[in-house]
Amino acid sequence: MHLSAMMEYIDTHCHLDGEEFAADRADVVQRAREAGCRRVFLPAIDLKTCRSVMDTCRQYPDMCYPMLGLHPEEVRADWADQLRAIREYLPPAPGADFGPVPRTTAAAPHATGADFGPVPRTTAAAPHAIGADFGPVPCPVPPVIAIGEVGLDFYWSREFEQQQLLAFEEQVRWSVETRLPLMIHCRKAQNEMVAILKKYADDLPGGVFHCFTGNALEARQLLEFPRFVLGIGGVLTFKKSNLPLTLAGSEAKQALTAGAGEAKQTLTAGAGEAKQAGVPLERIVLETDAPYMAPVPMRGKRNEPAYIRYVIARLAEAYGVSEETVCQQTTANARRVFGV
Ligand SMILES: [Zn+2]
Repeated sequence: MHLSAMMEYIDTHCHLDGEEFAADRADVVQRAREAGCRRVFLPAIDLKTCRSVMDTCRQYPDMCYPMLGLHPEEVRADWADQLRAIREYLPPAPGADFGPVPRTTAAAPHATGADFGPVPRTTAAAPHAIGADFGPVPCPVPPVIAIGEVGLDFYWSREFEQQQLLAFEEQVRWSVETRLPLMIHCRKAQNEMVAILKKYADDLPGGVFHCFTGNALEARQLLEFPRFVLGIGGVLTFKKSNLPLTLAGSEAKQALTAGAGEAKQTLTAGAGEAKQAGVPLERIVLETDAPYMAPVPMRGKRNEPAYIRYVIARLAEAYGVSEETVCQQTTANARRVFGV
């Protein structure tokens, strides 16, 4: 893949703090940079990983940005205590202490250089102002940019179903209070998740439905939340995946079968209809979910941000656009949703 300034992208979901990267994290980050990855967003899954996420972001402040929350699979009997502790890392609710807080200042609880624990809430303005360009930034620890990953997961177990519902709704309220977007994990629970989100729909700042692998109907239901986008990763490249067609729309079906060259023509001819039928590129962000979900031809291996180029190539093929266009549009989408 030819790399140019036009080929910069953002990995919006990467567990780079995980022990899978303990031995060679610096190399992984270096390979990401060389591949064109300019931002990596790190989700926490519980209180412990809130600390490791912050720690990793502290080491790569120009690259890594923290998202904090309690993952549905980590919701257990102690969920309320976990939430109380995690909430301390986040900006206060507007009006709680100092009146309404604009987003750029609210999102900077780590500017003091204090150690991990909860930090004072009277911190200075965020250095990563919305719209700031890529490039070196002076902040030693980037501000928390999202609530995540949070959501519902009834795939493995429904043991803590009620607790999951309560924990998710509480964290949805955090998003409304702090104006930080949501990074949402959802498995076998879309109806329940949508029901909760609908209660707050008008007030939600936005977010990502991470690791989207559903059908057209499910995509449409999620995209009814106007400031939300779908997180697309390695699954897109799997041989039996219907995701390319679901995203690009039924108009692209013939084109995808015929080959990439004709795909461009067909999609240009019927661009309006194709957009209607599928998911507009404006509603997609890129992600690895590393170390999981490695794309073909790396499937089964440890995933890392540099491998997103395989996802970019597949998206470009499906939509009949250039890889540069995929990079530019998904980067713009990520910056629109996350403000970095
Ligand atoms: Zn994840």
